[in-house]
Amino acid sequence: MKNKFSNKEVAELLRNVSAAYQVKGANLFQIRAYDSAADSIEHATSELKDLWEAGQLDQIPGVGAHIANYLDEYFTTGKVAHFETIFKEIPDDMFQFLKVPGVGPKTAYKLAEAGVVSIEDLKQRIRSGWLVKKGFGQKSLDNILRGIEEFNRKSDRILLPVAGEIAKRLIEYLKKHQDVVRADPLGSLRRKVATVGDIDISVSSKNPQGIVDYFTKFPEIDRVVEAGERTATIALRSGIHVDLMVQPPDRYGSLLQHFTGSKLHNIHIRKIAKEKGLSLSEYGIKKIEREGEQFSQDTLFKCETEEEFYKKLGMEYIPPELREDQGEIEAAIRHKLPALIESKDIKGDLQSHSTWSDGHSSIAEMAKAAADLGEEYIALTDHSYPSVDFDQRLKEIEQFNYSQDRIRVISGLEVNINADASLQVPDNVLAKHEIILVSIHTSFRQDREEMTKRIIKALENPHVDIFAHPTGRLLLEREGIDADWEQIFKVAARFGKFIEINAYPNRLDLPDTLIREAKRFGVRFSIGTDSHQIAHLGLLEYGVAIARRGWVTSKEVINTLPYSELEDILNKK
Ligand SMILES: [Zn+2]
Repeated sequence: MKNKFSNKEVAELLRNVSAAYQVKGANLFQIRAYDSAADSIEHATSELKDLWEAGQLDQIPGVGAHIANYLDEYFTTGKVAHFETIFKEIPDDMFQFLKVPGVGPKTAYKLAEAGVVSIEDLKQRIRSGWLVKKGFGQKSLDNILRGIEEFNRKSDRILLPVAGEIAKRLIEYLKKHQDVVRADPLGSLRRKVATVGDIDISVSSKNPQGIVDYFTKFPEIDRVVEAGERTATIALRSGIHVDLMVQPPDRYGSLLQHFTGSKLHNIHIRKIAKEKGLSLSEYGIKKIEREGEQFSQDTLFKCETEEEFYKKLGMEYIPPELREDQGEIEAAIRHKLPALIESKDIKGDLQSHSTWSDGHSSIAEMAKAAADLGEEYIALTDHSYPSVDFDQRLKEIEQFNYSQDRIRVISGLEVNINADASLQVPDNVLAKHEIILVSIHTSFRQDREEMTKRIIKALENPHVDIFAHPTGRLLLEREGIDADWEQIFKVAARFGKFIEINAYPNRLDLPDTLIREAKRFGVRFSIGTDSHQIAHLGLLEYGVAIARRGWVTSKEVINTLPYSELEDILNKK
């Protein structure tokens, strides 16, 4: 197989090295180094190979000099001699099983040793009872079966921020062409669904052939899959496919609306159109022909913009994030859609990490980068590892704030809610900080009742402000916790606690459906990037996107407030 050196491939290679080390019982530090490099590469929004070509491998945090050297060898020669030696002692077949959620290196090794050759084969051999006979426990095999189902479901999804950043670069590129009037993403990407299936882009132009030609010369391209007169598909070096569709400007609005979906939204819209004697298509709106009536081109209302499209149907414009047939159509008819929050409303970031815990940059570096993005403040909320010298850290924050006036660093901590509902650090430590986030990082599988009590007890602590990445889901990896959200939201509203909308690429947590639920109880939100490196700070917009999908207005988000007002809220606890 030809190496494309995509981030996914490189991360997988490093994970395989880590797995091989684990099977061989290497030391924990070696193993962690590979895992953390792989994590970092998976969440990078630029291609590693491009950074390597530009001599900027050191921009990816977590990739130390040691691993950087191996990557250099890998990009130069296509393999790494040292890795080959390690892999030689391990059955090749084991690595594919690592892709199944819940299967760790040791199990994967045992399966390969037992003679299982593929994931499909694994499924067969569990079902036929063959593996039980080989000494595997039924309970763990049941878990593996569930893992295989999950694997099959998720394998072709892309995280919204990853797809979003690629689309942004592509659209920026397209807009440089003089004949491009507009360019937009389509489908689930435009609606900002947390994971998207593929990247589709539409362009409004009178020069389709010119645009198609230009599109196939996008710098990140691996190959052209197909190119027609007004459509094309390219494969990027990341392995992701992008479809392009070019339409004339006079009916661009109809096209955009049609291909943005969702399916349910469009079905409902079509029904309403029909009641008005209209039929809808990607080409426009026309009167339904009655018997004996001649259809003429003139009756087609083409819609240059989506605003015209919705207006023609008696509705106000519906933002793409809301188009899920969750009441937005009814609201649009009554002209009662909420004024959704926008990225520009956000004044600062309310979750970030520095080298004081597991981040890759110092407090000053993070703050300066946030200031460069125009933020008025940033909460540095390092994990409250008991080994941290909290007073020293607070002093560093104070000194930084004193030394400059471009940005205000808010002193904060992200504190673990232990399995027994106690917090990781005592109240006197919490009291010294301006903002306290609590979150779950262990014992995710408690039953609903115990989990709910655990969270509520934490929220009742007067020092606590925010419940961070509430469900604990890791997109494409791990389901969230089971909890009684209604109870939690009630308590949050009663005690004036805020619920986080976490913008980290594989979290996007609270999910949009729960955001709407929380709103019903009057809960307010905070949006945080959970940045562990400077490059993540710019991903705030994806938190905003999920908030918009949850119908959130700027008034419902505390970090739309200037620091002076936010300070009041935080002091009120
Ligand atoms: Zn966390």
